[in-house]
Amino acid sequence: MKPDDGYIAYIVNPKSGASSSKLTSRQFERFLVKRGFDVRASLTTSLDNACELATDAAVDYDCAMVVVVGGDGTVREVAHGLEGSDKPLLIVPGGTENLLANELGFDEKIRTILRTFEAGYIRPLDLGSANGKCFTSIIGFGFDGQIVKRVSERRDGHIDHFSYFGPIWRTFWTYEFAPMKVELEGEEIFNGRGLVFVGNISRYAVGLQVLHNADFGDGLLDVCIYKCASRVHLVKHSVMTALKQHSTGRDVIYRQGRNINVSSQFSGIATEIDGDPGPDLPIQIKVIPQAVNVMVPEGSKPAGIRTRIIRAIG
Ligand SMILES: [Mg+2]
Repeated sequence: MKPDDGYIAYIVNPKSGASSSKLTSRQFERFLVKRGFDVRASLTTSLDNACELATDAAVDYDCAMVVVVGGDGTVREVAHGLEGSDKPLLIVPGGTENLLANELGFDEKIRTILRTFEAGYIRPLDLGSANGKCFTSIIGFGFDGQIVKRVSERRDGHIDHFSYFGPIWRTFWTYEFAPMKVELEGEEIFNGRGLVFVGNISRYAVGLQVLHNADFGDGLLDVCIYKCASRVHLVKHSVMTALKQHSTGRDVIYRQGRNINVSSQFSGIATEIDGDPGPDLPIQIKVIPQAVNVMVPEGSKPAGIRTRIIRAIG
């Protein structure tokens, strides 16, 4: 990337993020200006606005690339706005969880951002669509949908990892495992009680490798279904997942595909999309292959459970 290539659209969510990421963002912006780049910064006013700003950048001939500073929600909307454009997207992680940025190999350090920008290594990123709503990372049905619902009901402004403790605890003791039906490419692969995850990234909250075979650019979505009707069984699944042993179990279905339907005869099953409350069932999910070009740190791996717990505490 050279200054002659065009301006850099710098989309910042002023609400999201820890102060460390705000500092990283300012340092990166200063670095770009010093190098002679025309940096045009915009502060988002809403998630829809983040998408609009990205769409404007995508169709503007003079724009060479897009930088987004924000959490998973902001990143998703910017990716959505860029869908189908070949302009590279660089993510400066600025949220609580940063699921996608972590999957791409980012941490919150300025040197990682600079190294990534200078190397200019680009990979295609698939997006997902759930009832027409875009997602980048993961959809959860049931248990974790309920947790996200509780967190968002209590949410006023920025949340951190500690915001989840109460909701996880309460959901664990009160959750009723409602039955769901899952179809993959039109074929029923599950009909029963359990937890269902569909997504494009291998690591979920705190680095759990729920969809451990997921590749964000392979044109496929991964599906993991935990057969589960009791708290004891849920604890077993959690331990096996933390140990990366879950998908070999007879009580887990692990598949990949392009079209997934999740439905239920029961109403009120909560869902979450990329950590935000999702729509009611039935949900039709499909992959949008190679929708966006993302700049990634070459050779980096997603951070594991230990690293992410240390980061969360630090
Ligand atoms: Mg994939």
